[in-house]
Amino acid sequence: MRAQPEASHFIDGVYVEDEAGKAFESIYAATGEVIATLHSATPAIIDKAMAAASRAQLEWASWLPAERARVLRRAADIIRARNEALSELETLDTGKAIQETLVADASSGADSLEWFAAQAASLSGESVPLGDAFAYTVREPLGVCVGIGAWNYPTQIACWKAAPALACGNAMVFKPSEMTPLCALKLAEIFIEAGAPKGLFNVVQGLGDVGAALATHEKTTKVSLTGSVPTGGKVYAAAAAGMRHVTMELGGKSPLVVFDDADLEDAIGGAMLGNFYSTGQVCSNGTRVFVQKGILEKFLARLAERTAKIRIGDPLDPETHLGPLISKAQHDKVMAYIEKGKAEGARLVIGGGVPEGEAFAAGTYIEPTVFAGVTDDMTIAREEIFGPVMSVLSFDTEEEVVERANGTEFGLAAGLFTKDISRAHRVAGRLAAGICWINTYNLTPVEIPFGGVKHSGLGRENGKAAIAFYSQLKTVHVALGKVDSPY
Ligand code: NAD
Repeated sequence: MRAQPEASHFIDGVYVEDEAGKAFESIYAATGEVIATLHSATPAIIDKAMAAASRAQLEWASWLPAERARVLRRAADIIRARNEALSELETLDTGKAIQETLVADASSGADSLEWFAAQAASLSGESVPLGDAFAYTVREPLGVCVGIGAWNYPTQIACWKAAPALACGNAMVFKPSEMTPLCALKLAEIFIEAGAPKGLFNVVQGLGDVGAALATHEKTTKVSLTGSVPTGGKVYAAAAAGMRHVTMELGGKSPLVVFDDADLEDAIGGAMLGNFYSTGQVCSNGTRVFVQKGILEKFLARLAERTAKIRIGDPLDPETHLGPLISKAQHDKVMAYIEKGKAEGARLVIGGGVPEGEAFAAGTYIEPTVFAGVTDDMTIAREEIFGPVMSVLSFDTEEEVVERANGTEFGLAAGLFTKDISRAHRVAGRLAAGICWINTYNLTPVEIPFGGVKHSGLGRENGKAAIAFYSQLKTVHVALGKVDSPY
């Protein structure tokens, strides 16, 4: 199986190669096959991309907002028309099940382009009366924004960054994760087809060093990273040195609280979605599932029953629920956490191993895994695992669970299941998280802001809130009378 792109990078409207850059491989996680070989961006490639973006941004910002909106909408239409091919590529790039990529990746990217197209056409400032003067504000683009992606949602992440950035009149240089370099190149092609100026959206490939070079490039005005907390710390510090704007979409260890009056089937469904979707490789996953003691045994029994039915296997088979982990390194890291869970005294309810059989031999598969009897101090309850591993903890009271749920450096997401409407809002108000779901989990429509508090990040993607992170206000003060000067 091959998915070799025409060249590694997409700059100024065309594919570009520079074989002087270090070669790296894109591997299909289900089989271990090398599906593409790419070259990391050299300093010359980075400069070329930044110069192209800089030129294109000036042109783009001079277009009428409605014209910019039209390009974004066309790009959304093209993505939808090609959803099948793009989803297949995403499955090859990530190893995620095709039944997911068909509905959650390219289509979510299209949603965001369409939604921010509408925002582009309606961006405006305000007018402030000041007696013998008045002022007005203008929302201006930042310039060239750098986007750096994680590997779990390569198309969605590229679109979630590009859509608000371009809507506000910026250009973008995007560096996908080195694990999933292929999908963003297709998006770059689509923007050109949709009528964007050449250079408006460029893709350069590479590892962390390329990301670091982009984050500190003299032409970069903003860095938007989706990645882990340690990388976020480095990128934030690097961007700060040049007083650059940032959006940091980082990791989590989110709590999902199930009260004993919850609809049991819904709560279990939410917990499974929040731990096993994308083979557990979702930043907002509710990996600490706190279940009130009255329903704990029933919850675990039914959870095990439903988890046993998860179909693990070939990600290109539409019946498959759970594909492999992104890489051998991630597989081994998750297996080490499972071993740690056992060693520290958590009780394995189901899973915990590598599925057996010829079909799984070359892939990086791990069974969906549930631990019970997990306590707050265990490693699996404290660190982000980023794999299909659910930790179930028990609790007695609302007061206790809120305190324990908040007892983490992370604060990306939270969820709760209860039928008590007052308790639902009370607890949502007290959970320290950027997004909190009541009686559902992990829904991220583009209309609502998404992002973390505490170490999970800064800024917001999606929703109207994202506009503030891809634009800046200029205030113009206009005198209507004489200058009142004592000199
Ligand atoms: P990662 O931090 O290893 O890498 C993310 C990106 O940063 C990659 O493109 C990488 O090449 C680049 N990078 C690495 N070092 C860099 C540096 N010093 N300077 C600039 N760029 C650098 O993350 P990952 O393993 O690809 O993704 C998994 C992590 O991403 C998890 O922690 C997950 O929670 C998080 N994530 C967060 C969100 C969110 O929206 N909050 C979404 C998806 C994933």
